[in-house]
Amino acid sequence: MRKVLVLEDESSIRGFIVINLERAGYEVIEAETGEEALEKLAANPDTRAVLLDIMLPGIDGIEVCRRIRLSDPHIGIIMLSARSQEMDKVTGLMTGADDYITKPFSPAELTARVDALLRRTGDVPPAAPVPEAPGELVQPPFRLNTTNRTLEKNGQRVRLTQVEYAIVKLFMENKGTALSRESILDTVWGHGYFGEPKIVDVNVRRLRIKLEDDAQEPKYILTVWGYGYKWNIE
Ligand code: CA
Repeated sequence: MRKVLVLEDESSIRGFIVINLERAGYEVIEAETGEEALEKLAANPDTRAVLLDIMLPGIDGIEVCRRIRLSDPHIGIIMLSARSQEMDKVTGLMTGADDYITKPFSPAELTARVDALLRRTGDVPPAAPVPEAPGELVQPPFRLNTTNRTLEKNGQRVRLTQVEYAIVKLFMENKGTALSRESILDTVWGHGYFGEPKIVDVNVRRLRIKLEDDAQEPKYILTVWGYGYKWNIE
C-alpha cells in the first residue's frame, strides 16, 4: 500500500487530511511534531511521501524538510502553508520540497496533489533514447545516467530531487533549444498539475545552485526572457 506521513500539529486539520488520504487508498502515518515525524519516518523507510505543515511548535516544517532531504533525495515532499506565508513556500521549495498546498484546501485538491507527486516520484523511468553508452547522456562536464537516475558534474555526483532530475533530463534531451515554462511544467509535473508555472522558476533557481559554477552568472541554464529556459551546451 502507498504509505504517506502527515505532519500537522492542529489535530482537526490533521484528521481532515488523514481521513481523506485513507479514503483515497493511502496508508497514513500521523505526526504532531517535527521530531515525531523524523522518528516515524526512520521507522518506516517505505514511506513514499510526506506532507509537512510549516508552522509547528519545536522544529518547523522547513527544517524537517531540510533534514529529510539530507538523508533521502527521492521521497516526495509537499509543504502545507497558509495563504499568508508566501515566502515560506519559496523557502520550502528551495530546501527541497517538491510541491506545496495552500490552506485551506479541498479533499479533491489534496488527493490530486499527492497522487500526482507519487506518479512523478515513484514511477519507473521510461526507456531513454540510447546515446553514447546505454542509459547515458554525456554533455561535458555533465553525465546523466538514466538507469540509475544520477547526474555527475566533472565526475562528481550531484544530489538531485526527482523533480530536479526530470528537469535536467528534459534539458539534456533538448540541448540548445528554448523550452517554455509551460512545456517544462507539462513534461515534468504532468498535464493534470494544479499549480503555477512559478514552481518551474523555483526549481531552476535551485538547480543553478547545484549545477552552475556561479549561480549568479549561469552559463548552462540560460533564461529566455518572457518565455522559459535553455540548456546551453554545444
Ligand atoms: Ca501548524
